[in-house]
Amino acid sequence: MTKKQKKTLRRILLAAVLAVCAALLTHFVPLPWYLALAAWLVPYFTIGYDVLRKALLGIKNGEVFDENFLMAVATVGAMALGEYGEGVAVMLFYQIGELFQSYAVGKSRRSITELMDIRPDSANLQTADGEIKTVSPEEVHIGDVIVIRPGEKVPLDGVVQSGESTLNTAALTGESKPRRVGPGDGIISGCVNADGLLYVRVSKPYGESTVAKILELVENSSLKKAKVENFITKFARWYTPAVCYAALALALVPPLAGMAGLLPAAWPAGWGVWISRALTFLVISCPCALVISIPLTFFGGIGGASRAGILVKGGNYLEALAHTGVAVFDKTGTLTRGVFTVTAVAPAPGVTENELGEAAALAESFSGHPIAKSLWERWGAGLDRARAADARETAGQGVCTQVDGAAVLAGNARLMEAHGIACTPAEAAGTVVYVAKGGRYLGSIAIGDEPKPTAKDAIAGLKGQGVRTVMLTGDAEAAAAPVAAALGVDEMHAGLLPADKVAQVERLLAAKGDKQNLAFVGDGINDAPVLMRADVGIAMGALGSDAAIEAADVVLMDDDPAKLCRAMRIARKCMAIVWQNIIFALGIKALFLLLGALGIANMWWAVFADVGVMVLAVLNATRMLAAQK
Ligand code: ADP
Ligand code: MG
Repeated sequence: MTKKQKKTLRRILLAAVLAVCAALLTHFVPLPWYLALAAWLVPYFTIGYDVLRKALLGIKNGEVFDENFLMAVATVGAMALGEYGEGVAVMLFYQIGELFQSYAVGKSRRSITELMDIRPDSANLQTADGEIKTVSPEEVHIGDVIVIRPGEKVPLDGVVQSGESTLNTAALTGESKPRRVGPGDGIISGCVNADGLLYVRVSKPYGESTVAKILELVENSSLKKAKVENFITKFARWYTPAVCYAALALALVPPLAGMAGLLPAAWPAGWGVWISRALTFLVISCPCALVISIPLTFFGGIGGASRAGILVKGGNYLEALAHTGVAVFDKTGTLTRGVFTVTAVAPAPGVTENELGEAAALAESFSGHPIAKSLWERWGAGLDRARAADARETAGQGVCTQVDGAAVLAGNARLMEAHGIACTPAEAAGTVVYVAKGGRYLGSIAIGDEPKPTAKDAIAGLKGQGVRTVMLTGDAEAAAAPVAAALGVDEMHAGLLPADKVAQVERLLAAKGDKQNLAFVGDGINDAPVLMRADVGIAMGALGSDAAIEAADVVLMDDDPAKLCRAMRIARKCMAIVWQNIIFALGIKALFLLLGALGIANMWWAVFADVGVMVLAVLNATRMLAAQK
C-alpha cells in the first residue's frame, strides 16, 4: 500500500468507529435533533470531506457531473432528510470502494512492471584508463565498452568484444531459451547474463536499445483504446447527467402530480419519500464499476501478454485479435525455421562447385535474408567481403551484386528470367537459388528449410478456434506445397512477389465477413506492406529486428508461431471479461434503479449496487492478470 492508501485506510477505520459511537449514542440517549445531527456529522466529515471538496471544485470548474457530485448530493440529501446513518454509510462504503480500486490498479501496474523486469539500473563502463565505472545506461555512448558480470542484466545493445557466456532471454520472450554468445555476437539489452564475464562494445544509445523500445511500447499501449473502452467513456459522459436529471424528475414530478391530484391513490404523495428515492437513485447510478474495470481488464490483458513475450501495442489490437477469423502466414522464417542448409549443388558444365558457391556467397554478403545467411555460412569463411560491391536486392526474387567487377545474380527462376538468363530447372527438393555471373549461368544451389517444431500445433490450434489458415510465400510451388501439406494449412499460394502478397491479403480481406478480422503473421523481412494492410499485423522473431517492432501491431518476441494461439486466447479472455462486466454492471444497475424508483430498494441496497458491483467488477478484471502467471 502507498502512503496515501494507508492514510485513507486509517480515515475509514476512524470514521467507522466514530459512526458506531454516534449510532450507540443516538440510540440509547434521547437527544434533540440538532445534537443527533452533530453526533453524525463528525464521522460524516471525517470520511467525506475530500469528496465534498472535489464536488464543489467540480461545480466551480463547470465539470459538474462526476461521481463526487453524485455522492455529495446523495449523502447531503440523506443527512438533510434525517437519514444520518445512511448518509454516513454511503460515504464510508464509497471510500472503501475507492481504496480497494486504487489498491487493485496499483498492484496490477506494479506486478506488470516487475515481471517485465527488463529495465537496467546501471552499466559498468570501461573508462579510457581501463577502470570500471558504474554509470546510468543513458550515459553510455556508441562505441563505449561495457562490462557485464554474471547475473547482471544486459543494459544496452552491443557486440561482444571478448568473453563467452550464456544469455537468458526469459524476461523478453517469456520462455527461457539460453543462448550461447562469444566474441563477435550481437547481444540485446534486457537479457540476463547467466555465467561468463562479457566485454561488450555498445552499438546503440540507451534510447534506441531494445529494452527502451519495448518499455516505451508497453507504456504507450494504454493510449490506443479499444472500441468498447471509448464507448464506455462516451457512455459515462452522457449517462451521469442523464441520471441526475432523472433523479430530479423523480423528486419533483410525483409530489407535484400529487398536488394536482394526478397521482394514483395507492402511491405516496409526500415530498420526503420521493426525494429520498431520488437520492437512492443517485447512489445506485454511479458508473465507477465500468469506468474503472474496463481499462483495468485491457491493462491486465496487455500486461499478461507482454509477460508471455507477446507485445500488444494497444487495447484496440487486443480487441481485433479476439475476433480473428483468418490467419495469414508468411512461410520463410515464420512457419519454417528460416535456417537453410545447402542440400544440393549443381554447377553448370565447366564450373566448379567452389566457383559457384563463392560467387553466390559474395553476392549475398550484404543481404539479411535467411537464404543469404545460409549461403554465407557454407562458403563465406575466408572470403573477402570487399570483393563484392553495389548490391541490389529485389524482394521476392534475389540479389544482383558486383563481384570482382562482374554482375552476379543469385535468386529464383523469376530473377533469371528478368535478366534473360536461361537456367536448368533444378529437380532437388526445397528452395533453389540460381546463380549467374556476367551474364553466364553458373548453376544452382538447393537449400532446405524445415517447418518449426511448433508450427503444426499452431495451425491445428488456430483451426480449433475456428480460424481459417492461409500460407503465402514467395518461394516456388515445389518447395512450398510439401510444407503446406505437412502443416495442414487451409489454403496456400506460392511464387508471390511482395506486391502479390498484398493483393492476396486484399482479396482475403474482401472475402471475409465484416465481423471477422484478418491477422497477418510475418517475420518482418520484406513483409512490412502486408503487416500494415492486415487488420492485425503480427511480427515474430522481433528480438533484434527494429523494423518488425515498428511495422507490426502485435510483436512476438521469439519466433514461436504457437504464440499466436496464446495471444488469441488472452485476447478472447480479455473481451469475455469486459463484456461480463458491462452486462453485469449495467444489468444490476438497471434493476436497482427500477427498485429504487419504486421505493423497494433503500440506501443500503444502493450502496451494494454501487460499491459492491464495483468491487466485483474489479475483482473480475484482475482475473486477467492472475491467468497469465
Ligand atoms: P517468403 O514469402 O517465403 O517469406 P521471401 O518473400 O522472403 O519468401 O522470398 C521469396 C523467394 O524469393 C525466395 O524463396 C527466394 O527464391 C527468392 N529470394 C528472396 N530473397 C533472396 C535472396 N537474398 N537470395 C536468393 N533468393 C532470394
Ligand atoms: Mg519472408
